[in-house]
Amino acid sequence: MRKPLIAGNWKMNLDGAGATALARAISDASPAYGKVDLLVSPPYVYLKTVGSVLNGGTVLLAAQNMSHEKSGAFTGEISASMLKDCGCTHVILGHSERRHIYKETDADVNKKTLAALAAGIVPIVCVGELLEEREGGKTAEVIRTQFDGSLAGVSAEQLVATVIAYEPVWAIGTGKVATPAQAEEVHADLRKLIAERYNAATADQVRILYGGSVKPDNAAELLGQPNVDGTLIGGASLKADDFLAIAAAG
Ligand code: 13P
Repeated sequence: MRKPLIAGNWKMNLDGAGATALARAISDASPAYGKVDLLVSPPYVYLKTVGSVLNGGTVLLAAQNMSHEKSGAFTGEISASMLKDCGCTHVILGHSERRHIYKETDADVNKKTLAALAAGIVPIVCVGELLEEREGGKTAEVIRTQFDGSLAGVSAEQLVATVIAYEPVWAIGTGKVATPAQAEEVHADLRKLIAERYNAATADQVRILYGGSVKPDNAAELLGQPNVDGTLIGGASLKADDFLAIAAAG
């Protein structure tokens, strides 16, 4: 039985006071949401502050990116051990904004995924097709290629400790949510792929989140799909009430 994970990706939003207030509201309410795991992902510079607000509670803390390097002359980069030091349990990797704006490749995402796993941080590895790829009937091929490239060399044991997020690029920040059937089709295919590459027991345990215009009014139907094990939320995660309403649907 996979426990739903409701994750908020705050992206490059909020200031210190806003991040603290949002974290406090979610943390204070969290005891009533024990059926799901809650996670927030603030910008790097607020990780420590948010971590101290969440301290002692059950809300998980994720960074939005990291370097695959351990340390050294990499100006502007942040390592896995620094994230651990700030209280992170998770890190979002290969988000479509990283892939498309900052040109991260599957090979880059793979190096980061292996580095996170080696450091004991749970990677949330994102995959998702562009609109033209969907319209060209290439969704399954794109997702499978991203999965294979981003997760190369990950053992079955490590994959169970990894979260996959399916975020169709055309649904991110656009208000165009994938229909529950569209989400379920890709999630089911991802699970089938995991069973092919690993085994059925591994496939059964890996959590696969959906992301892309998840809101309180569409969350229940998405989360009701058999292979949708949670949500990765952008815009609606910036308001505690909306985020918690989505969590209540989990
Ligand atoms: P929106 O929920 O704003 O569409 O963003 C989704 C997303 O990119 C989460 O990582």
